[in-house]
Amino acid sequence: MTNTPNPRNIDALVDSLSLDEQIALLAGADMWHTVAIERVGIPAMRVTDGPAGARGTSFTGVESVNIPCATALASSWDPALVERIGQLLGREVRRKGARVHLAPTVNMHRTPVGGRNFECFSEDPHLTSRMAVAYVRGVQSEGVASCIKHFLGNDTEFERMTIDSQIDERTMREVYLAPFEAAVAEADVMSVMSSYNRLNGTFAADHHELLTSILRDEWGFDGVVMSDWHGLHTTVEGVNAGLDLEMPGPTAHRGHLLRAAVDAGDVSPIAVRTAARNILSVLDRTGAIDDGGPGPEVIVDEPAERALVREAACAGMVLLRNETVGDAPALPLAERDLARVAVIGPNARHARVLGGGSAHVNPPYVSHPLDALRERLEPDHEVLHHHGCLIDKTLPALDASLCTTLRVELFADPEHVDSTDSSADLDEVANSSKLMWQASPIAGQHRPNFGARMTTSLTPNVSGAWDFGLLTIGDGRLLIDGVTVIDNSKLAPGGSFFGLGKTQMTASIELDAGRTYRLDARMKRELSEIALAGLHVGARPPELGDPVDEAANLAATCDVSIVVVGTNSDWESEGWDRGDITLPGRQDELVEHVASVSKKTIVVINAGSPVAMPWLDRVDAVIVTWFAGQEMGNALVDVLLGETEPGGRLPVTFPRRMEDTPTFEFHPGRNGAAKYLERRLIGHRWYDTVGREPLFAFGHGLGYSSVVIDGATLVDSDPHQVEVAVRNTGASPTAAVVQVYAARVGRDNADTDEPAQRLVGASKQVIAPGETRSVRLGLDPRSYLTWSTSDHAWVPAGKHFELRIGLSSRDIAATVDVTP
Ligand code: BGC
Repeated sequence: MTNTPNPRNIDALVDSLSLDEQIALLAGADMWHTVAIERVGIPAMRVTDGPAGARGTSFTGVESVNIPCATALASSWDPALVERIGQLLGREVRRKGARVHLAPTVNMHRTPVGGRNFECFSEDPHLTSRMAVAYVRGVQSEGVASCIKHFLGNDTEFERMTIDSQIDERTMREVYLAPFEAAVAEADVMSVMSSYNRLNGTFAADHHELLTSILRDEWGFDGVVMSDWHGLHTTVEGVNAGLDLEMPGPTAHRGHLLRAAVDAGDVSPIAVRTAARNILSVLDRTGAIDDGGPGPEVIVDEPAERALVREAACAGMVLLRNETVGDAPALPLAERDLARVAVIGPNARHARVLGGGSAHVNPPYVSHPLDALRERLEPDHEVLHHHGCLIDKTLPALDASLCTTLRVELFADPEHVDSTDSSADLDEVANSSKLMWQASPIAGQHRPNFGARMTTSLTPNVSGAWDFGLLTIGDGRLLIDGVTVIDNSKLAPGGSFFGLGKTQMTASIELDAGRTYRLDARMKRELSEIALAGLHVGARPPELGDPVDEAANLAATCDVSIVVVGTNSDWESEGWDRGDITLPGRQDELVEHVASVSKKTIVVINAGSPVAMPWLDRVDAVIVTWFAGQEMGNALVDVLLGETEPGGRLPVTFPRRMEDTPTFEFHPGRNGAAKYLERRLIGHRWYDTVGREPLFAFGHGLGYSSVVIDGATLVDSDPHQVEVAVRNTGASPTAAVVQVYAARVGRDNADTDEPAQRLVGASKQVIAPGETRSVRLGLDPRSYLTWSTSDHAWVPAGKHFELRIGLSSRDIAATVDVTP
């Protein structure tokens, strides 16, 4: 934290403002800035998205360091590492001239198909809390406010702007509020973002109990509460509930509307003053007032930071399976056995290093698996590649090498896109056929209301059926040689552009190689409060031959097949959930085929949340990399070659099938409501309580050595301190993630949603070969408490408990009886 030498008197500062100036502060100036009050020297303050970096003010602008996604960070089970990552992020926020980082995301993995799971740490409230506290401490140590989000109940993306998340009081306290509470109590988080959804009937941005009674009165939060972008819908209720800052700006609900509400007596001047004071106080605490205004946006690409991102990527990779092949485990690979290496799969050449939506940043470079393997192994070894199959959910942008200049004409009147007589208000050249505007590009307009026409000529290099795809916010059309081939005007919004745009419409058109075709794509964005517009045109050439067969033929000639499968940022994104956990496209078939002919098959899963593995028994090793950030390829090679251990343990259960998951009956909800009827049995708690077999249990993950737990005791009979003996029985140093679960003895007559066991402590240690380490763990202060819905307070959950100590929720090696 930056300490102001002479602390400013914030009360005096806020009182020096007129009521209208105070009101002006309560909404953003634009997408990423607060309002400046120049008369008294209060500058604007910039905010920037996270959590996988600090993007700055543009989705396509200055580059940003891209760290592994939150699921990967949580897989490290290493708060100290996450705190160092937080420090790096804090520096990145400053390099983007900002003082607020819109992160971490601490919603829960309620279902494996949640669209933003990759942004969220875990399915477990204890692990999420430990990660959130470490992350916020790191970020805030750099003079930046973390804005923890989304408060509360935005755990999936289905109808996220309006859905009513119906969560009972005890579940809310024991699961969903826990990470926010920990970040306030233990990390003094300076900002909180309200979620889009309703919570038990009331929009989160208007929720007095949530934003004031719990957050401020009970927990003592003294920072800023801001709305999610366009998530405030009221003038009176929001301010009165404790929502300080409407984002983005310019205001839709405050300004003169709020002034009128004050004059009418519906909002007290004190409520306005309190909100303005909260905002000024964070400007002051971060140093934004002394900055005098947001700084320039720069990228600093430092070797030490690259190394840290790589370390974190390795620490998050989870080795799920490692069978013996011949006389040695499949991994790590021994270089001497690798004359020919097949690197196969849709994510091998272009890995996904981050998910979609507002979490997107532009990394300065990306290390992809194929490149990184080639760099490390060639020329001594042959590294061969086949993509195996395609997994595009939306078709790739037009191939610039086959197109003439992409001309983009913009019209203030959307209807003019269809007229050849109207001249454009702006005439530009684009470098991609995927365009998005954060505000109206036509001068003088903030709220989008314009038309866009993109034209180019395409000369195909292959003859056959080409697939074209169109995505727009608003109505769109695609014409080829003047004939409309796609018209999406009848489609309702949903499925693209954060959920605001329409789902992709496609057309398959026979084209001749060498002939030139005129493409003309049009978008009409009608007036809207939400300052976002978009037009994406995609195209895919016909695929010749059978890529799965070709990949298998290659695999048969190699010593090992490394098959990189997964999802991408179209499948896993803000704005929508996945439909199921099946790997998209023909990937399951690809793995089966390759495994049936390979000497050794290593499957690398590059996704942000769990996928099904129907081929599991037929492959030799499986490693999950998650969306591992810009160093993904290098980190993967470190781990595959055994230069670094895969450090991750699962922060989420991998189910066998969707039917086994806790919310199968309830997700996504219906009639505008998402009922959290699994209650406290989220994630591993569900599998362990109802006795369902997961594919891989929460907490599971292998290293390159092996550890055993030799016993555990309480330290000085303290029920909150355990000492565990852990022994490395292998030949190399290895990490052990010791996990402690608390189970109430006599749970038989329990409420149906009382978890059979709960994670209450964990510690990661690196242990030398032959060493037995005594690991001391402090347990969660609420290990033996439950939330009473009659007392509305924490009360003892029982008299007798068993602590279960192990290496996953299903691998329990020692128990300790406790009477707290
Ligand atoms: C997301 C937030 C994000 C904000 C600003 C919203 O769509 O839900 O997480 O911080 O946009 O980009």
